[in-house]
Amino acid sequence: MSRPARALLDAGALKHNLQQVRHHAPRARVMAVVKANGYGHGLAWVARTLSESTDAFGVSSIEEGVQLRLAGVTRPVCLLEGFFTADELPLLSKQQLEPVVHSEAQLRALATAPASSPLTVWIKVDTGMHRLGFLPAVVPDVLKQLRNCPAVTKVRIMSHFARAEFPDDRVTRSQIEDFAGLTRSLALETSIANSAGILAWPASHLDWVRPGIMLYGASPLMNKAAAQLDLRPVMTLESALIAVQPRKKGDAIGYGGDWRCPEDMPVGVAAIGYGDGYPRHAPPGTPVLVNGRRVPTVGRVSMDMITLDLRSQPQAKIGDPVLLWGRGLPVEEVAESAGTLSYELLCHVTERIPRVAV
Ligand SMILES: *Cc1c(COP(=O)(O)O)cnc(C)c1O
Repeated sequence: MSRPARALLDAGALKHNLQQVRHHAPRARVMAVVKANGYGHGLAWVARTLSESTDAFGVSSIEEGVQLRLAGVTRPVCLLEGFFTADELPLLSKQQLEPVVHSEAQLRALATAPASSPLTVWIKVDTGMHRLGFLPAVVPDVLKQLRNCPAVTKVRIMSHFARAEFPDDRVTRSQIEDFAGLTRSLALETSIANSAGILAWPASHLDWVRPGIMLYGASPLMNKAAAQLDLRPVMTLESALIAVQPRKKGDAIGYGGDWRCPEDMPVGVAAIGYGDGYPRHAPPGTPVLVNGRRVPTVGRVSMDMITLDLRSQPQAKIGDPVLLWGRGLPVEEVAESAGTLSYELLCHVTERIPRVAV
């Protein structure tokens, strides 16, 4: 037997979630965002599972783009952070990777690229996120410069939301309006919607939508759980009990010894820890499923293990299944307990966790 910690990956759920994207945005083309190793699920597995049903993929580096090509992906691939230096341009052209263009430095690099290296690029506009992108006022001039670049054969345009997860948000409303106002006369294909935009802001769908987190079955919205949105968890992180110990009232459990047993009680040990990507900041009381039923964690998360309050399951024994998140326990709930986001938990699952497609 090997260590029981593993991530089960549900291809049916991934395809179902993409159908939900199509259901909400039936007229838009879909760029499935698979950056950060497919949000921790495995870039090649996600890409192969979705390759028939998506129109394009979005990644954040040339290395991820090349990995997609090596995995046999022939769909368009967009580099959401653009390229970093001019020497990447021949490879982008060869691999047909479509960079976002957000800076003057990139414009200068593109101006020197030869026509023999044809490229599709996406102008990135800053409509309120204030991270990457050109301000709307300079976009007409940026477009003119791109049209003068011998290598640039096609231009599209995108922006990105800062707070679309909040319903009826004033900033999001004005981002949508400003982007529409800017692009109305440009005759370019447009894109602004992430998962939250797809689910909560129909006016943002435009020509292309860019779902990330919803594909993996987690809710992007503050006011709705994934199940309410008919999204299914793709990853189930599971392990097993490797010890069950009867402890005495007052016993201190684990590192630091700051959690003490309030009475005589059984404490379980599961083989999962922050070395696997389980959040070290998950406080005592974070929910875990043992034999399909909720129990709280106790003590601190170690690198390889966590400890569990088994008072509600005194019959639990070595080998019993422990589910950290996924089917039956939304990753958002664990994230909230640990003071982080589902995005971070999913993409932090480490390499030593075997991904098992089911
Ligand atoms: C990550 C990312 C997305 C996907 O966002 P989700 O909230 O995961 O849907 C879309 N667009 C860009 C530019 C991104 O960086």
